[in-house]
Amino acid sequence: MVEDDPAVAEPLLAGLKRNGIDTVHVAYASHVVEAVAQGVDVVLLDLGLPDGDGLDVLRDLRRVSDVPVIVATARGDEADRIVGLELGADDYVVKPYSVRELAARVRAVARRRRVEAPLETGRLVVDRKRRVVTLDGTAVDLTAKEFDLLAVLAEEPGRAVPRQELFSRVWDPVWVGTGKTLDVHIATLRKKLGDASLVETVRGVGYRLAVETG
Ligand code: CA
Repeated sequence: MVEDDPAVAEPLLAGLKRNGIDTVHVAYASHVVEAVAQGVDVVLLDLGLPDGDGLDVLRDLRRVSDVPVIVATARGDEADRIVGLELGADDYVVKPYSVRELAARVRAVARRRRVEAPLETGRLVVDRKRRVVTLDGTAVDLTAKEFDLLAVLAEEPGRAVPRQELFSRVWDPVWVGTGKTLDVHIATLRKKLGDASLVETVRGVGYRLAVETG
């Protein structure tokens, strides 16, 4: 949270904490890049800061980081909002905003970013934004369902993903039948990857993506 007004920052910090969001607070433009470098999931950026303009901070930040940024603008200041979005802000809130609204937006941009970030697991890269899979740098031609299956498995290599979860996330939230179609798709996925050992069967559970070493 980049916010110089303690009357705004203090209740927000407490409110975000109540919403399960850990927050690092800085009050100066000059502290932002360093704070972000320590690793944060989302930046809430006030535009009026004592030692600089938040939009300049955003510009500097974008040179070094693609961390999601929510810009906090004064009521009705459309110009700031537009410039913020043009400079690569992910969202904005208009002051005064509620903790609840902010928490929801923080979660939404973090989730969106997670969904867009390519999953890299050794030889395999699953780019969910472009819906492209590469193995050792070579594109693998997958159907939509095969892609979705692999994307779920690649979220967490090594995790045994239950059949029911795979079925409900890739096909239908309601688990019906034996899920034979799941096994058929896993078989074609293995074939297309050209290395059956990449997708492991976990007996009695489901499937997992092999953890590659070295
Ligand atoms: Ca301010």
